[in-house]
Amino acid sequence: MEKRICLLPGDGIGPEILEQGVLVLKKAFAVSGHTLHCETALIGGAALDAVGHPLPEATIAMCKDSDAVFLAAVGGPKWDQIQPELRPERGLLGIRKALGLFANLRPAVLLPQLAKACLLRPDIARKGLDLIVVRELTGDIYFGEPRGLSVRDGKRVGFNTMIYDEEEIRRIARVAFETALTRRKKVCSVEKSNVLETSRLWKEVVCEVAKEYPDVELSHLYVDNAAMQLVRDPSQFDVIVTGNIFGDILSDEASVITGSLGLLPSASLGASKPGLFEPVHGSAPDIAGKDIANPLATILSAAMLLRLGLGMPEEAAMVEKAVQKVLEEGYRTQDIMEPEAHLVGCKEMGQRVCAHIAA
Ligand code: NAD
Repeated sequence: MEKRICLLPGDGIGPEILEQGVLVLKKAFAVSGHTLHCETALIGGAALDAVGHPLPEATIAMCKDSDAVFLAAVGGPKWDQIQPELRPERGLLGIRKALGLFANLRPAVLLPQLAKACLLRPDIARKGLDLIVVRELTGDIYFGEPRGLSVRDGKRVGFNTMIYDEEEIRRIARVAFETALTRRKKVCSVEKSNVLETSRLWKEVVCEVAKEYPDVELSHLYVDNAAMQLVRDPSQFDVIVTGNIFGDILSDEASVITGSLGLLPSASLGASKPGLFEPVHGSAPDIAGKDIANPLATILSAAMLLRLGLGMPEEAAMVEKAVQKVLEEGYRTQDIMEPEAHLVGCKEMGQRVCAHIAA
């Protein structure tokens, strides 16, 4: 099998963490006897400096021509004063739009090796945490029209429109049910149907889609309750599916309770290939170029790329196991350092994960 991947290193720690992610991908391909072609394209501040735009047309074309896109991070203080439409982050929004990515998948897993970093009470953390938030990414109140600021009855008002059509709900629900089939076969749909019409339609359509997946157990929670349950007993969740604004908040909540920003991967998927895979964190300009960044979120994004982007679940599992093995051996980058552990840099962490990848 041959696959083609477009690499977007971006800014700050981007190039150094992506280098480790790519080494890991190459090793996974090599041990399973497949061929990987990688091409690198410009995005973010690096693209702005080189060609005057954060998302050059050539980058869009190269991404569209690939089987998956592997992105590190964009942005930094150097470009903070630039006009809004040319800011590095526009490159990120632009590529998501150009690839039609409507589903954002963010796993939150508490690895036993890092249980001490968890922000929850030990008795709750002991029950485990292994869930994935499937968030709709292109609709909802963030994009609904009309929106704006005006003056009514002499008072300033701000207004936005929460809106979903049934097709938008159906396609994200299918992503959630398909994801659940590869996991513990449970979907929890989160909305606010006791108050919002949009949510009533959401619930109705999710229930319709559920009929196509008789093996998956569907439950429903109001968003306020879901936010509470996530800290009270996150072990009850497998796949959470929700709209854009609720997902924005819940995915941050779910991931931060694991305690390790440097370990959180994500995937954004559309109706067709390619998907985009990236760590949740930003470009960390404060530590760029010092070989101290944690590459594990990027390496775990490579595992998601293998599983969801290329349909290579065995290779994905190899990468995830290798990460766990290195953590079990007590190696830590600075951000997740613990007493008694061995401190390693970005490169050494990547090399150690590579060394554990075997068929
Ligand atoms: P950040 O995630 O870059 O950094 C927050 C803190 O976490 C910093 O102290 C940083 O050193 C640390 N950190 C982040 N990733 C780390 C890693 N892999 N290993 C060790 N420590 C790590 O967020 P920020 O400081 O708010 O933003 C910095 C820049 O990144 C900004 O320009 C912002 O716009 C951009 N950003 C980009 C993305 C993206 O590309 N997806 C996401 C968020 C922020």
